[in-house]
Amino acid sequence: MGEDQTNRNEHPDFAVLADFLASFADLVDSPLILVDEKNNLRFASTRAESLLCLPTEETASVTFQNLMNVVDLGVIQVRSCAGEKRFRYHELPVKWGDASARLLALRPEGSEGDSSHASRDDFNFLLSFLNSSVAIGSIQKEGPFSLIYISPPIQEITGYRFEQFLADANLWFNMTYMEDRTRLLNYWDEMYSMQDQQTHVLEYRILRSDDQIRWVEDNQTCRFLPSGERRFYSFLTDISERKHAEEEREQTEERYRLLTETVSDVVSLLDNNGYLIYISPSVEKVLGYRPEELTGTSWLDCMHPEDREKLMRENGPSLLEREEHIFEWRGRCKDGNYLWVETRSRVIWNGGGKMRGWVCSMREIDSHKKIEKALTETNRRLQESINELEQRNIEAILINEIGEKFQTCHSQEEVFDTLQEYIPKLIKGGRGALYIGQNGSGLFDRQAMWGESKMESPVLTPEFCWSLSRGQVFRVRDGRSPMVCRNLEESYSGMRIAPCLCAPIIVQRETLGVITFKEWQSPSFERVEQLAVTLAEKVGMALMNIRLRETLRMQSLRDALTGLFNRRYLDETLERELHRALRAKQTICVVMIDIDHFKKYNDTYGHDAGDALLQLFGKFLQEHVRGSDIACRYGGEEFVVVMPDTALDDSRKRAEQLRVGLKNLTLIYQGKQLEGITVSVGIAVFPEHGLTLRSLLKAADVALYSAKNQGRDCVAVALGKSN
Ligand code: GH3
Ligand code: MG
Ligand code: MG
Repeated sequence: MGEDQTNRNEHPDFAVLADFLASFADLVDSPLILVDEKNNLRFASTRAESLLCLPTEETASVTFQNLMNVVDLGVIQVRSCAGEKRFRYHELPVKWGDASARLLALRPEGSEGDSSHASRDDFNFLLSFLNSSVAIGSIQKEGPFSLIYISPPIQEITGYRFEQFLADANLWFNMTYMEDRTRLLNYWDEMYSMQDQQTHVLEYRILRSDDQIRWVEDNQTCRFLPSGERRFYSFLTDISERKHAEEEREQTEERYRLLTETVSDVVSLLDNNGYLIYISPSVEKVLGYRPEELTGTSWLDCMHPEDREKLMRENGPSLLEREEHIFEWRGRCKDGNYLWVETRSRVIWNGGGKMRGWVCSMREIDSHKKIEKALTETNRRLQESINELEQRNIEAILINEIGEKFQTCHSQEEVFDTLQEYIPKLIKGGRGALYIGQNGSGLFDRQAMWGESKMESPVLTPEFCWSLSRGQVFRVRDGRSPMVCRNLEESYSGMRIAPCLCAPIIVQRETLGVITFKEWQSPSFERVEQLAVTLAEKVGMALMNIRLRETLRMQSLRDALTGLFNRRYLDETLERELHRALRAKQTICVVMIDIDHFKKYNDTYGHDAGDALLQLFGKFLQEHVRGSDIACRYGGEEFVVVMPDTALDDSRKRAEQLRVGLKNLTLIYQGKQLEGITVSVGIAVFPEHGLTLRSLLKAADVALYSAKNQGRDCVAVALGKSN
C-alpha cells in the first residue's frame, strides 16, 4: 500500500484527473472507475462506489489489484464487501499529463438491457473534457480563487508550464494582451456569481512566452462541490486561426466596402439579362440616383438613345465574346441632364462555364470629354485661323499681282482680261461678271465673266441692279434674304441666287460699273465681300488711269483751240496710213487748206476774232470730213485733211465742197456778223505725188502755193512727183 500511495503522490496528474472526474462523473449515468496501468483503482464515481460497495473515504487508499480481476474480455470480477461480483464494462484509455489510465464504465453482469450505447456516449462526453486544454481553479467558501491545475494542452497554447502558473499567481493576467485585460477582469469577476454548471465564454488575446500573440476562447464552467467548494474549469481553445481568418475576412470585407463605397467609380453587378443586382453607392455622386432606385433596372434605361443604338449596333452580338468591353456613353442623370461616362464590363462565368452575369465599373468622363472637345475645338479653330492666314496671304499676293498688272494695262480690255484670269484663283466655285458703263448711255456691258457664264446677262441697267442704282454693295447671304434685285431674280428663273454679292465700281462719284459674285464655295461671305470691294476699287482705279492716260494722250495730240488733231498726230498717223496704203495698194489724198489773207482779218477784227474764226473753222472741218478722214491743224491758219483710200477726182470734189463750205461760214462775233473768209487748197495724192510723208506734204504745199498764185479761193492739184 505504501508503494502505491507513494506512486500516487508522485503522479499529481492522477490527483487532478481524479478531481476532474469527480466533478463530471455525476453528469453521466454509468458508474465509472479509473484504473492505472497496474490495475490500481485511481478513482471511482459515487455511483461506482455504491455499486462496488466501497466506503467513500477509503476509495483512494484501497488497492484494487487484488480486488479486481479481469476474467474475460469485457468482464471483470470484483471482490467487495458485498462479496464477489462480475461486471461487464466498456473501457476508455485516458492520458492526462504523465498519467495513463483506463476509464471503465461498469454494468452488473446480467442486468437488463444493453446500456453499452449509454456508456459509449458517456465516454465521449468525458473524453471531450479529458483531452481539452483546461485550467482548473477553485474558490473555497468565501475565499480567494486558487489555481489547481493546468493541463498540458494549455501549456502548448500559452508556452508556460503548470509550475510557472503555480509560482506566479499573476501570470495568467500578465500574459493577457494589454487591451483585453479589462475584459478578462470583468469575466473573472463574474465567476463569483456563477451558478452550478453555468458556463460563460470570453475571447481574448494572450502573449505567449515566445511573444507570439494568440487568440484564445476561454470557456468556463462552474461546478459546486458538496463540500461547498466551487470548481472552475476553463477550457481554452486556440482560436488564432479562426480569428485571423475572421479578421482577414473583416478586413477584406472592409476593404471591399471601402473600395465600392468610396471610390468614385461605380461598381455594379448585372444579372444574365443585364438587370442591375448591385450598384455601389457612388452612383449617387455620379448620376444622382440612389442605388436602390436603379436596382432591377438596366443601364440601357438611362443611356442616351443615340449611344444605346450605337451599343446595340456595334456591340450587340459580340458583347459576350470580349474579355473586357469598354464603352463611352451619355448617362441621363436624375436631374435630366446627360453626362459622359465610361463603363468597363466583363462577363462573370461560374465554374461550369455558365454565364452568371456581368460586373461593370463605370466612371464619369464628362470633364475629360469636355476638355477633349474644347481641345479639339481649339485645335480646329487654330487650324482654321492658320488656314485663313495662309489663304489671306495667298489672297494678298494675288491682289498685289492684280494691282501690278493693272498698272501696266494700256487698255480697258487688258484690265478685263486680268480680272477674268485672277478671280477664279481668289474665289472658288460660282460665277460672276464685270459690267462697265458705256459712255453716258445708261447701259452697262458685260466686259468680263468667270465660272459658269451662261447665266450672266450681257447687259445691265441700273433699274435692274440695286448695286448700280444705289451705288453700294448689295448682299444676298442665303435664299431667305428678304429682297433681291430684279437682276438676280429674273436671271435665274425665279429662284433666289445665293450667296450673291454685287459691288459697284465708283471713282470720283462716278459709277463706272459693277462686279458681281454668285454662288461661290469659298472663302467666307465676309471675305468675298472684302475682296469684291477691293477688286471694285482696283478695277475702278485701273480704268480711271487708262481714261486719264487716254485724255492726256488726246490732249497731246490735239490742238487746244480748234480741237482738231495737231501736226504731231498728223505726222504719226500719216506715216502709218502710208504704210498701210502701200501694202493695200491704196491711194491717200492730202488736202492742205490755208486761209486767205488771214493777217488782214486779224488786223481788221482783232486776234480774238481770228481765234473765234479758227474755232469755227475747226468745228466745220470736224463735221464735214468722213470718219476715216483725219483733220488736223497743220500750222497757224493752215489745215490738212488726210483722206485715206480716196481717188484724186473724189478728193478734188470733196476739197471743192470744203472750200465752198468754208467760204460760206458766217461768224457772229460779239453780236456782229463778220465778213466771211476764203481758202486756198492744195492737193497731193499718194503715191502719185509723193511716196513719203515729207514729199507728199511738200507736194500739197506746192499745190497750195499755186492755188494762191492762181488768185486764191481755189483748189489746185500737185503737178508731177515732188521730192
Ligand atoms: P495769204 O493769203 O498769203 O496766206 O495771206 P495771209 O495773211 O493769210 O498770210 P500770212 O502768212 O502772211 O499771215 C498769216 C497770219 O495768220 C499771220 C498771223 O497773224 C495769223 N495767225 C496765225 N496763227 C494765228 C492764230 O492762232 N490766231 C490768230 N488770230 N491769228 C493767227
Ligand atoms: Mg499761211
Ligand atoms: Mg494765209
